[in-house]
Amino acid sequence: MALAASDRVSSAFSVAVVGAGISGLACARALAERGVLPTVFEKSLAAGGRAAARMTELGGFDHGVQYFTVRDGDFAAALAPLLAAGQIAPWMARFRTQTDENSERFVGVPSMQALGAGLALGIDVRYDQRVTRLERVYTSRPPRWSLNRVGYDAEAHDLEVTEGLFDALVIALPPEDTLALLEFAPALARRIKNVRMRPCWALMLGFAEPLNTPFDAAALAGPRLSWIARDSSKPGRRPGERWVAHASAAWSEEHLKDDPEDVRAKLLKAFHEVTATRAQPIHAVVHRWRYSLVENPLAEGFVWDAQQRVGACGDWCSGARVESAFLSGSSLGAEVASALSELSRRPPLASAL
Ligand SMILES: Cc1cc2nc3c(=O)[nH]c(=O)nc-3n(C[C@H](O)[C@H](O)[C@H](O)COP(=O)(O)OP(=O)(O)OC[C@H]3O[C@@H](n4cnc5c(N)ncnc54)[C@H](O)[C@@H]3O)c2cc1C
Repeated sequence: MALAASDRVSSAFSVAVVGAGISGLACARALAERGVLPTVFEKSLAAGGRAAARMTELGGFDHGVQYFTVRDGDFAAALAPLLAAGQIAPWMARFRTQTDENSERFVGVPSMQALGAGLALGIDVRYDQRVTRLERVYTSRPPRWSLNRVGYDAEAHDLEVTEGLFDALVIALPPEDTLALLEFAPALARRIKNVRMRPCWALMLGFAEPLNTPFDAAALAGPRLSWIARDSSKPGRRPGERWVAHASAAWSEEHLKDDPEDVRAKLLKAFHEVTATRAQPIHAVVHRWRYSLVENPLAEGFVWDAQQRVGACGDWCSGARVESAFLSGSSLGAEVASALSELSRRPPLASAL
């Protein structure tokens, strides 16, 4: 979507975005396109959030997002440079079951992490900075925001660092984490508190020899596994035989607090049954996603408190997909920019109220 000159906002405004998942990055990009340069605070060492990869000596595993589809024109436009640069590519696998019929499936190259890395290009993302608290600062008119994040002292001990001041705040985290930061905004919190994310146990398997299966990926309706995929069938991957299996949401909930060793053994047994193989892996590791897919997304796109200039976005606002996360973030970014533009037009006394 081409932006009109009137959509641009003074770059004197500062906005903090908490979380560099796909929604946080999309929000930051939407702001940057409108002339506001946001600062993104991310607790981990890479962008992309659940669009993640685990690197091992055998090669990478996409243990979160498996693939993404692209239906919206704005999402397609944001991805066009990544596609041209080979950072994402279609995944032409042998699917045992049809999912997302008629939609091309895309993946990051050489791993799913390339999607977040590509969208983060040109954005000021501060890594390894977990945000712990947000605070309204009343010494400025209109009130602004500061945030506290974990930092390190000279001996690498944790230290609380205050950042700010910001004219607006965006929280781009799963709903439970969002609520933890929203104690000052009960009205927003009420809108979010019933959104439920389901967990997912993921199993990463590496084999010395290729498995003889007639498919590369399958969505499953069984009680234990909901998905298996030959990760090494994705484009631009290192050769080798690497698989990712996801447990169903119901099974993951039931076994949420189990010992990872037990989970590994149970999911490996299920994997052998589904693939009708008995090959023993040379690498078998599980990862627990506490928040995986949203069960009951809001139908709002994003939440925004215009009075306090604080909002939240994420897949949970509109659907359990990468594309939903992107659209949620970019629409909130446009809303924040428009609120800041409105603020700049108000007389000083009115904006102080
Ligand atoms: C196992 C699994 C499989 C999936 N499969 C698919 C699929 O095949 N296709 C699909 O389209 N979608 C899939 N999804 C869903 C997809 O991952 C999400 O819809 C999307 O990635 C959500 O992006 P987000 O930005 O809303 O949230 P997130 O990706 O959760 O991003 C939140 C970010 O905030 C950071 N963060 C958290 N707390 C803090 C803090 N206090 N301070 C600073 N940073 C913080 C996190 O590190 C993270 O980077 C899958 C998800 C999982 C877990």
